[in-house]
Amino acid sequence: DKGLEKTSENLFSKLGKAVIGKSKVDDEVLDELEEILITSDVGVDTTIKVIQRIEERVARDKYVNTTELDKILRQEIVGLLEESNEVDLSNFELPKDKKPYVIMVVGVNGVGKTTTIGKLAHQFKNAGKSVVLGAADTFRAAAVDQLILWGERVDVPVVSHGMNADPASVAFDTVKKGVDMGADVVIVDTAGRLHTKVNLMNELSKIKRVMQKFIDDAPHEILLVLDGSTGQNAFIQAKEFTKATEINALAITKLDGTAKGGVVIGISDQFKIPVKYIGVGEKVTDLQIFNRTEFVDSLFK
Ligand code: GDP
Repeated sequence: DKGLEKTSENLFSKLGKAVIGKSKVDDEVLDELEEILITSDVGVDTTIKVIQRIEERVARDKYVNTTELDKILRQEIVGLLEESNEVDLSNFELPKDKKPYVIMVVGVNGVGKTTTIGKLAHQFKNAGKSVVLGAADTFRAAAVDQLILWGERVDVPVVSHGMNADPASVAFDTVKKGVDMGADVVIVDTAGRLHTKVNLMNELSKIKRVMQKFIDDAPHEILLVLDGSTGQNAFIQAKEFTKATEINALAITKLDGTAKGGVVIGISDQFKIPVKYIGVGEKVTDLQIFNRTEFVDSLFK
């Protein structure tokens, strides 16, 4: 799979080495597997869960050979990944009764939030959808400027009141524009300052409230963007953001630059949130709709 070579090389080659010369899954193989999963940033809790399930199968079936281990491991990991069934994303289709479909994007600076929004706008547009973006991350001039730049690049309108503007007022005008235009998708960028948790929480609820003045059930998607190459930091951010707001979708970026794609598995399992998108490069087309079976297969290719 394009962009995931580093991750797959890593997991696959390590697993290959762990089982080399062994015909049977024994404690030593399981110990090595545990280490591989932990060093791939799957996270300790999820790793323990996987190992326990495999131990149970080995105990039940008495003799599990190392080829079967590969198959069992895939099945267990697919089972741990949350399924995203709200939207048929196979071709960027959106629910018909949610128009515009409102996406609120959260995440700390530097994780690839603006890039992900630009890529999403491009792909929705390519699928024939009309898109409006809102620059409600008003604490950084760069965030506002970059979103405007992305809007120009992918040719979609961006609602902006500049830096330091009230984020809720930007969100209000963005959703209003989306409704007025009859747009299919509205994507609102928001600030992600974790050091002021109470402020963040208040701000996000305020943004949600103004969106609901137009659309009762907006935002339909609260998308948390995480940098897949930051391992434990991504876990910490997921923990903090899920405390501040409900999160119902994840975008995990920079998986092209890391051998630690295991973070996708751990975070989806720990927080019970589906991964919807993965970022595999800096180009506008380097965003993939996440498919758990394909992802797991790519890890073992
Ligand atoms: P923001 O501060 O969260 O809005 O982050 P940006 O969108 O500005 O992205 C920060 C940097 O990460 C930029 O240089 C992006 O080009 C880069 N980036 C974003 N997503 C990806 C990705 O999936 N792969 C790679 N290699 N780089 C990415």
